[in-house]
This record gives sequence, structure tokens and C-alpha cells, in this order.
Amino acid sequence: MIDKIDIKSLTLEELKAAFAEMNQPKYRAGQVYKWLHEAVESFDDMSNLPKQLRSQLEEKYYINVPVAVRKQVSKLDGTIKYLWKLRDDTFIESVVMSYHHGNTICISSQVGCRMGCAFCASTLNGKVRDLAPSEMLDQVMFGQKDSGKKISNIVLMGTGEPLDNYENVMKFLELVNSSEGMNIGMRHISLSTCGLADRIDRLAERDLQLTLSVSLHAPDDQIRSTIMPVNKAFNVERLIGSCRSYFEKTGRRISFEYAMIRDVNDSIECASKLVSLLKGMPAHVNLIPLNNVDESPLKPSAPETVKAFQQYLESKGVTATVRRSLGGDIDAACGQLRRRYGA
Ligand code: SAH
Repeated sequence: MIDKIDIKSLTLEELKAAFAEMNQPKYRAGQVYKWLHEAVESFDDMSNLPKQLRSQLEEKYYINVPVAVRKQVSKLDGTIKYLWKLRDDTFIESVVMSYHHGNTICISSQVGCRMGCAFCASTLNGKVRDLAPSEMLDQVMFGQKDSGKKISNIVLMGTGEPLDNYENVMKFLELVNSSEGMNIGMRHISLSTCGLADRIDRLAERDLQLTLSVSLHAPDDQIRSTIMPVNKAFNVERLIGSCRSYFEKTGRRISFEYAMIRDVNDSIECASKLVSLLKGMPAHVNLIPLNNVDESPLKPSAPETVKAFQQYLESKGVTATVRRSLGGDIDAACGQLRRRYGA
């Protein structure tokens, strides 16, 4: 049997080309694309297509449909965490958060992660596979459909390293941004990376209007290499060099994530080094009090330490905010998403 093709991962252009090959008019591709982006679950539901075309499509393609095997709603703030089962029986998580300005979904880009950050639960069992563009889009579409909350913002901050799944993530961005699809503006999308500097350079070339978040977490190689293995491939100097070029090319201010870990990276000396590092670059530092991960000995900094760190940065002219943690009672906070077998 010939393997079927994942139709929802195709861009409108690709779909049009495929329909031309089947001697089908272009507008049919547009109709199908529209259905797919309305989270339709089968070709038979595409009611404005001739029956014969529906069965022709069925033979050649499949429609990815994730199954929500578990949905947890936070009693504290209404944050919703989904555990989705994918076509090959692997599992991923996404989180829907409500803010005054709208609803944000935090999506995963890979099943598991191979980056090995010492404080993060998503990487504990390594990477299983990359997600297809359709599987990232589905988290947004089905998260919206199931929760009944209109999604206005997307953060690629769930499980996985988006720039380690570069091509699929770029295609996902095109899909979710397309005016015939969900039409979510690039300025409403944040992409977070642990610091794959060569890919940041590639991304800069595309000159997208999305927000790039860089998980820095330490101001020097000595500390960063002990908590983030990626630092051995791209050290702090190389990473910041790429960030500076990224800003020059795109004009977009970079957001730096900094998880505050007790007695590891939370001294005023660290804050002072961070100020020097970011000198002359428009940047925003987002301090995240470390979330506990049972398997890790690393502990969060005390709230006073976080406050003092933030005030130091601000006093030196570096914009710094402390991230509010949502979904604490359902393990939905940063670094707590993980691959699980069974529901
Ligand atoms: N791989 C990407 C995106 C996933 S992680 C990246 O590294 O940026 C999303 C954010 O959560 C990153 O900034 C990550 O460093 C942070 N994070 C991971 N574990 C955490 C924890 N236990 N507490 C606080 N933040 C954590």
C-alpha cells in the first residue's frame, strides 16, 4: 500500500499544484484548504465537493485529527492543559491561557526534546520525533474548537525546540498565518529557542514579524554550560552575536527568558554581567521564577531575590518583567510539560 499524504501540512500553493495534477480546477483546492483550516475531520464532511472527488482524495490523503485524551482545567486561573494523542499513538501537550488581551495557546513543536536543559521536564526522555506542520496547526485549531476560546496569540514554548524542527515550523507559520486559514498575525506569534545560533541566523533572513524569545538563563559560559548543553555548541558570545544581527536585520526587539535558579544564576553579579552582555541592544528580559521539576535538584530563587534582580536590571536601563505563572495546580507551567504514555 502506498503511504497516504498528510494533506493538512500542504500550503495552499502545494494543494493547488496537486489539484492541477488531478485535473481539478484551482478553486477546488481553495475549498478543501478552507475546510481543513476549519478543523474538519473527514473528506465526507466537505459538503460542497462532488462525491467522486471526496473518495479520490480519501485514497491519496489523510486528515490528521488529534484526540484530546485528557483535559485539565486549573481551578486557580482557568488555564487549560490538553494531552493529545497523535496518529502514531505518541502524546503531546498544549496549554490555553486567558489574559485580558485575549487567549494564548502554548504549543509543542516536537514529541519530547533532545536539548537536555537541566531544569526542564520536557527533555527528560529525549526526543521521539518532530511534529508535522499539521500537528502544530491542529493544536491551535482543536484547542480553540474544544475550549470555545478564540485563540489570538500563539507561543511556541511547549515541548520541543522549534528551531530543531526548522522546516516544519516555518511551514506551520505559513499555514497559521494564511489569510485563507486561521489568519493569525505574525506579531501575535512568539517563537522560543534555547539558542541554536545558526538557525537564528537563518530565521533572520526570512525577516518575519514574530517575536523571538531566547532562553538565555545565564550571563556567561561557565554557568550556562552547566545547565544548558546547547551552550557547548553555541556559546554566549556566538548566541548574542546572532541576536544582535537578528535585531539589525528584522528591527524586532528580542525577548530573553531567564529562569531564576537559587544560588546558580540569581546573584547581583549575574545581573551586572547580563547588563553588560545586552548593552546597546533593545531587549526585554523576562524573569521566570524556576518551576520545580521533581527529577531536578535545582530550586527556584526566593521572591525577594527575583525582585532585587529585576530592580537592578531596571536601574541600569534594561527592561525586565517577572513572568506570572499560570496553571500551577495542573503542572502547566514552563518546563513542566512532558511526554506521557497513557492518559
Ligand atoms: N525549546 C525552547 C522552547 C521550550 S521551553 C526553548 O528552550 O526556549 C519554554 C521556556 O521554558 C524556555 O525559556 C525554557 O528554558 C523554560 N523552562 C524550561 N523549564 C523550566 C522550569 N523548570 N522553570 C521555568 N522555566 C523553564
